[in-house]
Amino acid sequence: MLPLVYHPIYSQLDLPADHRYPISKYRRLYQHLTEVLKIEQQADALFYQPEAITAADLKSLHQPDYIDALFSNTLPAAKMRRIGFPWSQQLIDRTLTSAAGTRLAVDLAYEHGIGLHLSGGYHHAHHDFGSGFCLVNDLAFAARHALTLDGIDKVMIIDCDVHQGDGTATLLSDDDDIITFSVHCDKNFPARKPDSDIDLALPKQTTTEDYLTAFEAILNLALAQHQPDFILYDAGVDIHQNDELGYFNVCKDGIFKRDHLVLNHCQQAEIPVAAVVGGGYRKDHQQLVELHTQLFHAAIAVYPPQQCKTRAQ
Ligand SMILES: [Zn+2]
Repeated sequence: MLPLVYHPIYSQLDLPADHRYPISKYRRLYQHLTEVLKIEQQADALFYQPEAITAADLKSLHQPDYIDALFSNTLPAAKMRRIGFPWSQQLIDRTLTSAAGTRLAVDLAYEHGIGLHLSGGYHHAHHDFGSGFCLVNDLAFAARHALTLDGIDKVMIIDCDVHQGDGTATLLSDDDDIITFSVHCDKNFPARKPDSDIDLALPKQTTTEDYLTAFEAILNLALAQHQPDFILYDAGVDIHQNDELGYFNVCKDGIFKRDHLVLNHCQQAEIPVAAVVGGGYRKDHQQLVELHTQLFHAAIAVYPPQQCKTRAQ
């Protein structure tokens, strides 16, 4: 069984017409998976809908004053500009539900070996400020949650979004049981890149072949060295050659191969993996759907229905 996590609220946010954030891609991806691929029948998949977490849930991860100001719309204008969204209750509700979705994907992965979230990857959210469309760091939140599960003593976050996971790196710098691993473009947002436990910074115009060769080598080393018993995977597609905020030269098939590489290792090594869709930026949101779909194709290839298992077995 392939567990999928989605909530319609992910695409329910009124934004200015020229806003860069591809807010409709979540709904479009869900529609594509259900109506075009009919993924539920094809892959013995099941959709789960998360229930929003609360502000209180976030106060051990983020600074309580930041969370209070964020939720009461009293953040200074400069801090809202750094986030990049106009404040609205929709924005807050969506953020809380998406963070819950990544946590739910963790729980489902723990149960079934894999959980896929049709949102998530808000890795630019720091302890006391948000940035780059990220208010709350769902990856750090879900990684700490994973450590509360029986038998999970070391978590690795593999962040393949083209932008470095700066918020995740700073939030978890003192968490020895969570290994942060970011693969990103060396000359891209964020300008300041605090150290993750492992950083693979690749130059602009990195090709599919160079990307996969470099990533696989470091991935193998990282997994051998740290031997995580849970993986969170950010499958951002802004590494694609036509992405408007990425500078890599990676093709669609390269995205499939990257996702397959990560999921196949998890399946072979019996490491539960929760994946989020991460970034991907185009004016035409529909063009992103085919790219994000690669994660689901890879999951179906790696986890055929009969091989998904429950911990009870
Ligand atoms: Zn990104």
